[in-house]
Amino acid sequence: MSCIFCKIVSGEIPSKKLYEDDKVLAFYDISPEAPVHFLVIPKEHIKSANEINEENASIISHIFVVINKLVKELNINETGYRIVNNCGKDGGQTVDHMHFHVLGQRDLKWPPG
Ligand code: 5GP
Ligand code: ZN
Repeated sequence: MSCIFCKIVSGEIPSKKLYEDDKVLAFYDISPEAPVHFLVIPKEHIKSANEINEENASIISHIFVVINKLVKELNINETGYRIVNNCGKDGGQTVDHMHFHVLGQRDLKWPPG
């Protein structure tokens, strides 16, 4: 398996973990775009949001519950944050293992470039 996020899940590539359970992993982005920038991924290799279907969709709600817990722990729940999923080439996805970015602790601009 050549997927770098699968290697992060297996521990083959080290990461700064924030949260882990049997279904998901949260870890800090190696190249942060905000003072708080972490990623939440399913442990299962799901390529992108295009692969979400009735069978695997429960992972999405679980990821959002985990994000809710982590933003409280990191104290950005009151000041606000942004959850981003980049999908495919035009969406700017560079790692083909679905992930949700969580960015916070700065005034994020809108719209994105
Ligand atoms: P994308 O551009 O696909 O939405 O986001 C991929 C993200 O993964 C980027 O923000 C990038 O900095 C991060 N990333 C890529 N390789 C690694 C890695 O080996 N470790 C960590 N922690 N983050 C990575
Ligand atoms: Zn993967």
